[in-house]
Amino acid sequence: MADNATQYAIRNTQYAAIEAQLESGVVSRRGETVMVAGEGCWMIDSEGNRYLDLTSSQGVAMLGYGHPALSAAIAEQAQRMHACPGFFNNDSRALFLEALIGVMPGQLRHAFIANSGAEAIDGCIKFARLATGRTGIVAAKGSFHGRTIGAVSLTWNPKYRTPFEPLLPGVSHVKYNDLAELDGAITDETAAVVLEVVQGEGGVNLGEAEFLQGAQRLCRERGALLVIDEIQTGFGRTGKWFGFQHFGLEPDIIALAKGLGAGFPMGALVYTDRVQEALFVGAHGSTFGGNPLACAAGLAAIRAYQEENLIERAEQAGQRLRARLEEALADCPVVREIRGPGLMIGIDLRTKVGPYLKTLMEDHRVLTLPAGTTVLRLLPPLILSDEEIEIGVTAIAAALGG
Ligand SMILES: *Cc1c(COP(=O)(O)O)cnc(C)c1O
Repeated sequence: MADNATQYAIRNTQYAAIEAQLESGVVSRRGETVMVAGEGCWMIDSEGNRYLDLTSSQGVAMLGYGHPALSAAIAEQAQRMHACPGFFNNDSRALFLEALIGVMPGQLRHAFIANSGAEAIDGCIKFARLATGRTGIVAAKGSFHGRTIGAVSLTWNPKYRTPFEPLLPGVSHVKYNDLAELDGAITDETAAVVLEVVQGEGGVNLGEAEFLQGAQRLCRERGALLVIDEIQTGFGRTGKWFGFQHFGLEPDIIALAKGLGAGFPMGALVYTDRVQEALFVGAHGSTFGGNPLACAAGLAAIRAYQEENLIERAEQAGQRLRARLEEALADCPVVREIRGPGLMIGIDLRTKVGPYLKTLMEDHRVLTLPAGTTVLRLLPPLILSDEEIEIGVTAIAAALGG
């Protein structure tokens, strides 16, 4: 690609107005910027401005933008065959499944391929009901599991839930990291306990080993399944392939999306023999799930994570980024705490985070995310370079007054 960013300049400035008029508007927009391209860790707007994307487009573009192998795999598949129903075997789906199960610990050996995170969570609810013959779900306060009626029933934030009640019956929420409360909530009606090992959207809240391992023990004792939502923490985000591996957990089902297709929309659930044995033909399905384009993207993503050692890189880059933030923000009165594993970092502020996101984007051309109301969240691509870490840290320190 030519390095003159202005090649992307687009004369038509009407896009923002069209979207404002025609799109639902349920997602709050960041001003009138129109993003038109990406290169590596950078997004490029219609005026040719370049932004360092420390969000990977909401945690999905783990390989950044325009990754050669990912782009080539999608292009090759698009030209050869872009659709194929689930009732035919397909070469790309088979190769993707083999690669996916290949990076799982031993007990997770079956998969259902869906199209998004929320859809994967809905699949977990259905499969857990089948495997246990029970309907109750225990989730955590502060959780985020998605927006479909099933997934939003497990999501904690009342703003997302309340307008849509009545939701799924039999769902309860316990305080995150409170094992005693969890102990009280798991009954012989509980099909599954559904947890994130780091609550992303909820504030980059770190799960504690005692709580997560205790949850697994209680599930085993009472015949409930342990479902881990790895949608945000999966595929190297936390410095290991999956977040549950930091705690030696053996979940019955994990939900995947985000990094699964490195930005190509796809989701999946991966689960044990016990769950597989409960399934029957027709129990679940998806018209688009396992689409060859998605599978080609997912296969290229997993190969890139492996061949470019990106899981290790995420751990190293995450340590460096956190250490540099600690240094640069040491005397910054607005910062309460910096936390998070790998390249999933939360900077907890003593004040609302919103204005800082705006300053970082408009004055420093650095993209960041909120988590909860006070946390500045960083979910950069795993390919983030040391030089880009410095650019990000300098901008964040300037914006937060470090
Ligand atoms: C993003 C996310 C979801 C929802 O995924 P969608 O693809 O937006 O439906 C669910 N759980 C977690 C932990 C997430 O980060």
